[in-house]
Amino acid sequence: MNRVRCLVLNAALGPLDYTVPVGMSVEPGSVVECPLGPRTVIGIVWEAERLPGTDVPAEKLRPLRGILPVPPLSAPLRRLIEWTADYYVASLSSVARMALSSGGALKGPASITEYRLTGGLPERMTPQRQAAMEALESEQATIRELAGIAGVSEGVLRGLVNQGVLEPVEVDCDRPYDEARPEFAEIDLSQDQGEAAAVFCNAVRAKKFAPFLLDGVTGSGKTETYFEPVAEALRMGRQVLVLLPEIALTENFLQRFEERFGASPVLWHSSLKSTERRRAWRNVASGDAQVVVGARSALFLPFHDLGLIVVDEAHETSFKQEDGVRYNARDVAVMRAHFESLPVLLASATPALESLQMAESGIYTKVELPSRFGGAELPSIDTVDLTQEKPPTGMWLAQRLVDGIEDRLARGEQSLLFLNRRGYAPLTLCRNCGFRFQCPNCSAWLVEHRFTRRLACHHCGHETPSPEACPDCGEPDCLVACGPGVERIADEVAERLPDARVFVATSDTLNSPGRAAEFIAAVEAKEIDVIVGTQLVSKGFHFPELTLVGVVDADLGLEGGDLRAGERTYQQVAQVAGRAGRGEKPGEVLIQTRHPEASVIAALAAGDRDAFYSAETEMRREAGAPPFGRWASIIVSSEDDAEAREAAHRIGATRPDVEDCLILGPAPAPMALLRGRYRYRLLMNARRSVQLQDVIRRWLGAIDHPPGVRVAVDVDPYSFV
Ligand code: ADP
Ligand code: ZN
Repeated sequence: MNRVRCLVLNAALGPLDYTVPVGMSVEPGSVVECPLGPRTVIGIVWEAERLPGTDVPAEKLRPLRGILPVPPLSAPLRRLIEWTADYYVASLSSVARMALSSGGALKGPASITEYRLTGGLPERMTPQRQAAMEALESEQATIRELAGIAGVSEGVLRGLVNQGVLEPVEVDCDRPYDEARPEFAEIDLSQDQGEAAAVFCNAVRAKKFAPFLLDGVTGSGKTETYFEPVAEALRMGRQVLVLLPEIALTENFLQRFEERFGASPVLWHSSLKSTERRRAWRNVASGDAQVVVGARSALFLPFHDLGLIVVDEAHETSFKQEDGVRYNARDVAVMRAHFESLPVLLASATPALESLQMAESGIYTKVELPSRFGGAELPSIDTVDLTQEKPPTGMWLAQRLVDGIEDRLARGEQSLLFLNRRGYAPLTLCRNCGFRFQCPNCSAWLVEHRFTRRLACHHCGHETPSPEACPDCGEPDCLVACGPGVERIADEVAERLPDARVFVATSDTLNSPGRAAEFIAAVEAKEIDVIVGTQLVSKGFHFPELTLVGVVDADLGLEGGDLRAGERTYQQVAQVAGRAGRGEKPGEVLIQTRHPEASVIAALAAGDRDAFYSAETEMRREAGAPPFGRWASIIVSSEDDAEAREAAHRIGATRPDVEDCLILGPAPAPMALLRGRYRYRLLMNARRSVQLQDVIRRWLGAIDHPPGVRVAVDVDPYSFV
């Protein structure tokens, strides 16, 4: 009987059965073309007994159209897809789609035509041609990509091709990458590092599931330490996946990787060009890609022979995906390691409470690096009580902090001011009529960006030029900026310390790997005295001359009553504090706060991490919050407010009565309007013993909604907006 069951990549459909035509051979995991009405959709052959069946009689089944020229998805990856769909209450096809999001790699080998400069000159030089030739000096890419890089039209470049200034080159899309060599530049490890590395290398050799928490203070050399098991996996000819939270920040990581292994790793993130994506995907699937460094979606790549997973900065909340399949990459990484039988290493200086708890209960093995590498001391930390040491009117920095920066200037050292707020001011209002600039699509104020002279929404990207007059009352010159953003702090530093060279470092200014590299080079060359930055600069960077860190407003993250607010504040401040004094000179950290007595601030000032974690643990235990209890949120949204409200109430009215499971709501979500959709929220809080996902599936599965309504389930939510 040649009947097979396929998971088709169409969220609206369940599994479908097909017959296998004569001469075609498939196995579980094969990626196939399935006829569906008049169309063809991509499907994955699955073990029939693991998916709900159809009872279409054999003679009615249609034959598969073809099999795609890629290796079958492995059994461990298929189990991971099943687990992720099950745990996060998502459809199997939406998870499987992530594994096959390959930039066209499924079509098989291919070559493309790229172009590069020949060194020749055009008959007639125009300013556009000139600019293009300068911009493309060391580039090779397709015409369309080159046009993007050079900022000229494709027509201009085609003209240059006709003139022989650009020449075509046939490129194998899937050409292999440079080889990473485990022995390229071995590092002498400190004793602590060496012991930790030995534990990890043994685990790599053992080829068994082994989750580790690498708990090392900032500057302890976690990266150097986990490079050793990476090297060990390479020696065994196996592949490695390193997950990093913010791909824009990998510049520094890539440089260190290259120094150690003599080649770049293979990158994987959402802004890869489709040619890069397909090349990476095919090399991962064939086993030729040795080390993949990626954002969370790299977790679903079809590795041929994975030997190790590292999750660096594992506490980072950006590992949590907030749309589509709402998974937490840290947790899915552990599950992948489980299904693949390999070690997984969660590295952090400020682990999530959940991870510490897993270590406490013996499920994860904790490996510690208690001191900084090379004898550097951890910085001294002090608080500045803003209710006592008030900044001058209209300013945000206490005199003590400004004096600290001035000292550093005099000594030729550097300072970092941390404020997690992009732009100039978070709110703009009219002094005359009280009008406030609000986003038309979101329940949010527009943020003023002075560099670009625009008001922008940080949720949906809506932008408008900053007006001269109030749009409501028409009064000119009456708009006032309320509160500080990083740009405003930079202005304040420039005003109070006119000699300081100030740089604002945010996702607005460091928006490409090139710009990030320029920034690093400028700091290293001491062309910048004061960095004013958001969480983008709070980690990963290693600047030996940076000796002062000022936290502009430590209370900011504590507002809002989010479940993890305390933990997040602790992590952010501890991470940014960890930027100070990483070289030979000691570091100092000043934390500005209105609540020096708050437990998280006090623990930070005392450098007492254990005190913070045990207070937080007790708080969570009492609240039945993770890791002691479980949360899930259900967000119901529609472009029509009444429709969303009705749907939410329909869901609320059929709430199941489950022991040890509390269901709150529906209520308007804190962001009641987001990207043009009205939102209502239900919150579930359950004991660990409750099969939360089953409850949700049974409950929501029984209700139908109008097509404009979206119901999103967020298991283990991070964001409560
Ligand atoms: P962490 O990630 O733990 O904060 P890093 O990995 O950034 O720490 O290491 C801090 C600095 O110390 C880096 O510049 C790193 O290159 C250096 N370093 C760490 N371990 C070693 C070592 N064994 N040999 C040489 N340099 C090291
Ligand atoms: Zn908006």
